[in-house]
Amino acid sequence: MSFSSLGLLDALVNTANELGYQTPTAIQQKAIPIVLQGRDLLAAAQTGTGKTAAFTLPLLHKLSSEGPAVGSNQVRCLILVPTRELAEQVLSSVQTYGRQLPLTSYAVYGGVSINPQILKLRQGIDVLVATPGRLADLHRQNAVRFDKVQLLVLDEADRMLDLGFALELAEILADLPRKRQSLLFSATFSDEIRTLANKRLNNPLTVEVSPRNTAAQTVKQWLIPVDKKRKAELLLHLLAQRPNTQLLVFVKTRKGTEHVGQLLREAGLKCDTIHGDKPQPARTRALQAFRDEALQVLVATDVAARGLDIPDLPLVINHDLPTVAEDYIHRIGRSGRAGSQGEAISLVCADEVEQLAAIEQLLKQTLPRQEEPNFSPAHRVPLTQDGIVQAKPKTKKPKHNTNDSMISAAARLGTWFGESPKPARAGRSKANAAKKPSTAKNKPKR
Ligand code: AMP
Repeated sequence: MSFSSLGLLDALVNTANELGYQTPTAIQQKAIPIVLQGRDLLAAAQTGTGKTAAFTLPLLHKLSSEGPAVGSNQVRCLILVPTRELAEQVLSSVQTYGRQLPLTSYAVYGGVSINPQILKLRQGIDVLVATPGRLADLHRQNAVRFDKVQLLVLDEADRMLDLGFALELAEILADLPRKRQSLLFSATFSDEIRTLANKRLNNPLTVEVSPRNTAAQTVKQWLIPVDKKRKAELLLHLLAQRPNTQLLVFVKTRKGTEHVGQLLREAGLKCDTIHGDKPQPARTRALQAFRDEALQVLVATDVAARGLDIPDLPLVINHDLPTVAEDYIHRIGRSGRAGSQGEAISLVCADEVEQLAAIEQLLKQTLPRQEEPNFSPAHRVPLTQDGIVQAKPKTKKPKHNTNDSMISAAARLGTWFGESPKPARAGRSKANAAKKPSTAKNKPKR
C-alpha cells in the first residue's frame, strides 16, 4: 500500500515521500481512511508505531479541504497531550507534515509564561496542541474559544488520566461543540479509557495495532539482579561495555535522576537529565541535545517515558523499575522503534520484586534474568513466574566493598572514554556513593 492510495491530498503525499516514508505503517493504514470518512476513532497504538502521522495527516487533509477560516481566539482542531515535551513534539510533526499547506499551528502548555500564549491565540489557530491544565486555564481566561472546534484528538489518553488530568479534560470536553469528530489514542485500553471513550466518542470504530498491553516485540528485554546499593556501579560497568551507545536511563525519583546523572558526568560521559523539577527550557534543551546526539545518555523520570520521539534508540536501561507497571511498556517503547531492534535492560533489586511481578503479569511473560559477573546480589531477588513471586531465597554474604568497586568502575569508564581517572573525581564519587540512595527515601515524583 502507498500513501497516495489512502486518498490524502497530494501536498501531504508529497511530504510523506520527501520524508522517506515509503509505505504507511499499520496504524496509518487502518486509521487514515476512518478519519477521512469522518468517523470517530478509538485507537490502541504505542509510540513508535507512526501514530502521530496516523492522526495528523488526515486531520490536516480535512482542515485544508473543509470548514471556514479560523477567527480571532478560535481553534479548529485541538490535540490534547499529557506532557509539555509531547506537545512540542506533536507540534513539530504537525508543522513538518503540513509544511506545504497554509494552516496555522501552535502549542500551549504549563511551566512557561502564559502571556505570550494569550497574545498568540488572539490571531486564531487552525491546529492547537495543548496540555489539559494550561488549556483549561486559557479557556477560563477567555483567551481561547471552542465554538469552532471541529476535530479533537486525545493523544496518549491513558497517560493524561494517569497524570491526574481527568477534571481538566472533563471541563474542556464539556465546552466543545457536540458536532465534532473525535479521535482517541492510547497505548493501553484500561476500563477508564473505555469509559472515557463511551462517554465522549460518537459510535467510534476501534483499531488496534499491537496486542493489548504487550511491549514492543522488537525490543530484547532482560534483567540483571543486583543489590540496590550497587545499581549505579553496575550502570557504569554496563556503559563501559557499550562505549558509543546512545541510551535512556530511567530512575524512579527526581533526586535519584540527578544523582545518577552526576555520577555519569563524573565518569566522563556526555549526559543530562530531565524530570519534573527542571525548568521547561532546560528540559527542552536536554532533549534537543540528546536528539542531536550531542549527549550520549539522558537520565529521566517517567515524564520522559511517553511519546518522546527519539529515533532508533538502541538501548534503554531501567536503573529502577517503575511503580506503575504500564510505565514499563512506555519506557521500553523508546527503543526498537519503527521496526529497528532495541534492547531494554532492567537493574532489579530484591525490594522491587513485587513491581517486577506486576510488570511480568502485564507482559504475560517472565523476563529473562542474567547475572553480571561480580555483581551477584547479596540480597537475592526472589524468582517470579507468571507474575507471581516464588519463595524468598536465603541472603548471601556480600563479597564486595561497594564504594571501592564503584570508584574502580568509574575509573575504568573514565579510561574507556579517553579520560584519565582523577583522584578528586573519584573522591566525589565516593562521597556520593556513601550517601544513602536518595531513591529509597523519596516518594516517586514525576
Ligand atoms: P510516532 O509513533 O508517531 O512517535 O512515530 C515514530 C517514528 O516513525 C517517527 O520518527 C516518524 O517520523 C516515523 N514514521 C512515521 N510514519 C512512518 C512511515 N510511514 N514510514 C517510516 N517512518 C515513519
